[in-house]
Amino acid sequence: MKRMEEKIISEGKVLPGGILKVGSFLNQQIDSAFLKEIGQEIARLFAEAAVDKVLTVEASGIAIAAVTAMELGVPMVFAKKHKSSNVDGEVVSAPVHSFTHNTDYNIVVSRDYLTPGERILLVDDFLANGNALIGLRKLTDDAGCICVGAAAAIEKGFQGGGDLLRAAGMRVESLAIIDSMTDTEIVFRS
Ligand code: 5GP
Repeated sequence: MKRMEEKIISEGKVLPGGILKVGSFLNQQIDSAFLKEIGQEIARLFAEAAVDKVLTVEASGIAIAAVTAMELGVPMVFAKKHKSSNVDGEVVSAPVHSFTHNTDYNIVVSRDYLTPGERILLVDDFLANGNALIGLRKLTDDAGCICVGAAAAIEKGFQGGGDLLRAAGMRVESLAIIDSMTDTEIVFRS
């Protein structure tokens, strides 16, 4: 998505440690018109996938997942982050290592909102090492759902998570894939 690359170039800031800050349009302030375009593009990519629900993880995935779900005309579910792994059997849960905070947490969804057989599209803002999507995939598997694929607004290709998931057979669509970045240059995968 050319517009995503342009927004990253014009508004993104590369921080030490391989973090891209996009607080001006995605992660703190949200460019609502652009958010709609993101939802439309992800919905277009998965239009033939017969998606029943969109699944993401709080907090930064929620806006993109919600607008994607709106465009697809389906519900959106977000996994909650819990510090402890002490959760009862009415939920599905998975451990996730956070790249940005360098901590471990559990993501949890009530079984009430993931019904066996449902076709689930995973959505997140960033795809880096792939841990968040691997965790979300575990939730769908444990709930007996079918994962139709995953969409990320921004993939940091140099961290390898996206390619790992593709090699494992998951359909992964990212609206922009960054192959390398420094504070003076961002190179996109063509
Ligand atoms: P992964 O689990 O694929 O390693 O990382 C994805 C998650 O970490 C996303 O949910 C996202 O919130 C966060 N993340 C990873 N890299 C970045 C980054 O460069 N910038 C921002 N803002 N978030 C990131």
